[in-house]
Order: sequence, then C-alpha cells, then structure tokens
Amino acid sequence: MKKILALVLALCMMLCGVAVAETYTATVEGHNGNVTVEVAIEDGKITAVNVTEHSETTGISDKPIATIPAAIVENQSVAIDAVAGASVTSGAILSAVKDCIAQAGLNVADYEVAVEEKAVEVTDETLTADVVIIGAGGAGLAAAIEADKAGAKVIIVEKMAAAGGNTLLSGGYYNAVDPTRQQLSGVEDSVEQHIQQTYEGGDKVANLELVTKLCSEATENMLWLESLGMKFNMGITTATGAIWPRSHKAVEPNGEGYIHVLLDALEGTDVEILYETKATEILMNEGRACGIKAESANVNYTLEATKGVIIASGGFGSNIEMRQAYNTIWPTLDESVRSSNTIAATGDGIVMAQAVGANLVGMEYIQLHPLGNPETGNFLGAVSGDVETYLQVNLEGKRYIAEDSRRDELCKAALQQTDGLMWQLTSGESLAGEYSVMLGYGYKADSVEELAAQINIDPAVLVETLNTYNAGVDAGKDELGRGILTYKFDTAPYYATLRCVTVHHTMGGIEINTEAQVLDAEGNVIPALYAAGEVTGGIHGGNRLGGNALADAIVFGRTAGQNAANAK
Ligand code: ADP
Repeated sequence: MKKILALVLALCMMLCGVAVAETYTATVEGHNGNVTVEVAIEDGKITAVNVTEHSETTGISDKPIATIPAAIVENQSVAIDAVAGASVTSGAILSAVKDCIAQAGLNVADYEVAVEEKAVEVTDETLTADVVIIGAGGAGLAAAIEADKAGAKVIIVEKMAAAGGNTLLSGGYYNAVDPTRQQLSGVEDSVEQHIQQTYEGGDKVANLELVTKLCSEATENMLWLESLGMKFNMGITTATGAIWPRSHKAVEPNGEGYIHVLLDALEGTDVEILYETKATEILMNEGRACGIKAESANVNYTLEATKGVIIASGGFGSNIEMRQAYNTIWPTLDESVRSSNTIAATGDGIVMAQAVGANLVGMEYIQLHPLGNPETGNFLGAVSGDVETYLQVNLEGKRYIAEDSRRDELCKAALQQTDGLMWQLTSGESLAGEYSVMLGYGYKADSVEELAAQINIDPAVLVETLNTYNAGVDAGKDELGRGILTYKFDTAPYYATLRCVTVHHTMGGIEINTEAQVLDAEGNVIPALYAAGEVTGGIHGGNRLGGNALADAIVFGRTAGQNAANAK
C-alpha cells in the first residue's frame, strides 16, 4: 500500500513538473573493508551524499566521512582533495559517488570540474595555557588528562584532523605483569623479569632507570586505563616480539580503545585540542621552555605555556629522509620499505627539541615488524597477532625462525628469505583469518594441501613443515627453538596471508629522565620542557619488546602531565 502511495506521489510530482530525486547506491573497497555510499541525484544535480555503511578506523575516517560528501554537494564535483592521513577512505567515497553518477546515466567527466581554491586569510593569535602539549596520541592525551586533573589549563595541538597517531594504528597490545590474568593462562611473571627482558631484549643500551620505571608502573597504569573504561581480553598472549606472555590485547580493534577512553576522559574538561594545527617551534625564555609556535590553515599561533611544554609528537617512521640519515642497522630504509606508521610520524618533535638543545639518544635503533602487509605496509589482513596461534613459512613452505624470537631477529631472518616475503599461517576457526579473506589478503582452505596449492607451495613440503612442528609440540621441543608450544596446527580451516617487514617504531629520540624532563647534551634538565612516548629515546634500547610501546606512552605521558602541571 505504502509503495503504491509513493508511486502515485512520485507520478503526481512529475506531472506537476516537480523533479524527483533518485537515490543510487555503490559499495567500494575502503581501508578496512567495504564502504557503501548513497547518492541522491535530481535533474542532474547531486543533492545528497551519505556514507551509509563502513568499517573504517574511527577517528581517522571521521573527517572524510563528514567533509567529502558535503564538499561534493557544495561544488557539484568529485574533484575533491583527499583528507590527509585518510586518503584511502576519501578515495573510496569519491569512487562510490562516481559509480552512482554513472548509474544515473550521467557523464562522470561532467562532475570532475576542478574546485576553485578559496583564498584563506591567515591571522595571528596568541593563547595562554599552563601546559601546552604537542601531539594527541597516547602519550599526549594521557599527559593532558593528568595535567588537567592537577588543575592546569591545557592546550594540545594535533597536526592531523583526528587524535590517535601511531597509538591508534598499533596492534593494541599492552605489556604488564598481571597475576590475575596470567594465572588463568598458567604464566609466571614478575616485574623484575619484565625489566630484565626489556633491558636485555634491547641489548642493554637503554637507560635502566627508564626501563625500571616503565616496567614497575606498567600494571598500575593498565589499571588506570581500565578505570577509564578500557577493555582488555581476559586471555594473556604474546604480541610479536614480546618475548613473554604478558601482552594484554585490547577488545576494540588495534589502538581504537585506548584513544576512545582517553578522549572520553577529556570530555567535559577544559582541555582544548586544536586539530589540524602543527607545532613548528619550541619557544624559550632564558633557557626555559615558555611555549610553542604552531600553524593551522588560517591561524599562526603563539601558544604561551606558563608551566611547561610537553612534546608527545611520536616517532619518525614515516620520514624516509630521517630514517635513511640515522639508519646504520638495516640494508636500507628507503621508500622500498613500507611503514605501518601514520603519515604524521615525521619526527617533528625531535627536530624541534634538538633546536633548543635537547640531547638525542639511540637514533639508529629503528624497529621493523615482520607482519607488514606488502601492499599497504600496515597490518591489514594479518591472520593473527598472537605468537601462540601463528607460524611463519617462506615462499618455499619452510619455517626459518622461531616465531617467538625478538623483533629484530624475526626481521633480519625475514629479509633473507626469497623476495623478503613470507606466509603467516594459522589453523582453526579464526576471526582475523576470515577478515583477511574478506579483505582479499587471506587464503583459506579445508586442508593443508589445498592451502599450499592456493599459495603456490609444494603441498608435500607444507604438510611436512606442519607435521614436524606439530610433532615438536607433542615432544615439547621445537626444531627451531620456539618456546611457545601451546598450539598445534592441525585443525581446519587453515589460513595464510603474505607478509613482509615494515618500519614500525623508532626507538631513538629525545633523552629524558624518569620525571619525563628533557635533558641537554650535558645531562642537565631543560627547564619546563618534557617529552613522552615514541618521541623519546633510551627506553627500548636497540630492540623494543612488542607490547611495551603503549605502556611507555601511558606511563611517561602521565608523568609528564603531572610534572608539567606542577612546574617540576
Ligand atoms: P605516542 O605513542 O608517543 O603518543 P603517537 O604517534 O600515538 O605517539 O602520537 C603522536 C601524535 O603527534 C600524532 O597524533 C601526530 O599526528 C602528532 N604530531 C606529530 N607531529 C606534530 C606536530 N608537529 N604538531 C602537532 N602534532 C603533531
């Protein structure tokens, strides 16, 4: 009945000369899966564009989803610039709209008219706060919460359109000694062991005092995150390169949970976040940090900080020139090596700090990760993040290293395999495996032979590899010395995805003390200047344990926030 009424109404409108908007729908591949867009077109005019379904990363995709549809309608054009840091989502929306235009029988080229850039007037503005923070990733947001709690007026500048940084893109693992959860998995642990493994796993070149602080305070800071609403799985696992089962996997994908709870905690406070505002310089007055210069599209800011400046701008994994300049360890870190990092990880804070006399430590220690997606450089399509449940084989179908080794060892070994590529395998029903298949990066089969055929490995070799591994689990002794032998690869379905090394974390950076105060080359504190998170050096040494970075960001971020607010 409703349909008939609608039809009659549409017919009347047409007869009366009123144009009827037709709605078209298109689904295209985005960053994390399908993006569905609905477009209303009336008499050749695009009247509405809506993204109706997607699984793009919260935060990063908010801006393109909000602004690109509006810009298309406003300009009647699909020649809209992609949002920086969200180019795949932006591109997906634009392609879907083009598809809808074609479905409407219109000529897409007519809607590709260049959009005139509006001239922006740039003004100068001076704002004053007690504490100014550069970067709204894990460390910056944790610092802001603490500084605000201590009564300070806080301004954060974030150069991207959304908060999150590498924290958001991380695997979401947080290492901490946690007797309650570890007991459930039959794991023994202690803070001393966490300290020792972090220090030795980093080749003893880190500052042991910083390592001690990180590991001793990781647990209370995890509880703090939980008190803010952060959800971790009950099962303890081993993140890639974590060395020991003390990794807490966030329930929300990747780092989304961390950024959600930290941003939620700032709701209703006086903390101001200036997005799309890039810090360019740290201002000093008689040897003391007193503010920063920052720029947005239309404002040149002078942000005065009466109590302190906190640098929490992350690492330099996306700065190829800087990577190449400092790298002494890897054959090359030029553009042929992709990165899992945000495009914002360009080392700005390191350069700004150096300009005001900060000392840098361990800049050559650049961490690669062995589970990079060869097309994107990030972890999209990995069939598992827990060492317990995956194996790695080379293109010939052979294991070549114990998968629970250190990250640097895993990557050195991976680079020696044919084409620097390897297959990551898992066995048994797997959500990550299904997702990988859905994205087109994963293979799935009911038998090892079938999987081998799909990925061009001699089936007899892969069967032999898995049989040998499974026999090792039974015997409690792995041929390559893998210690984690809790899982057999003998249950269908079997999944595989192709992986390569990717630049993941820059372990060097600004030298700090345990109070998160920045030090100069003589080891003196630079008054009122603090740093926390990936921008700092000396915590992870020459090789970071997987799962230690988020603890680092939260532990030192909070300390920096408290100390800056108290003008320590
Ligand atoms: P951490 O884990 O140490 O917090 P993240 O990478 O998560 O590091 O966060 C760093 C944040 O700093 C990112 O959101 C990034 O966009 C931001 N950032 C980097 N450089 C600048 C800059 N020059 N001005 C403002 N924000 C910056």
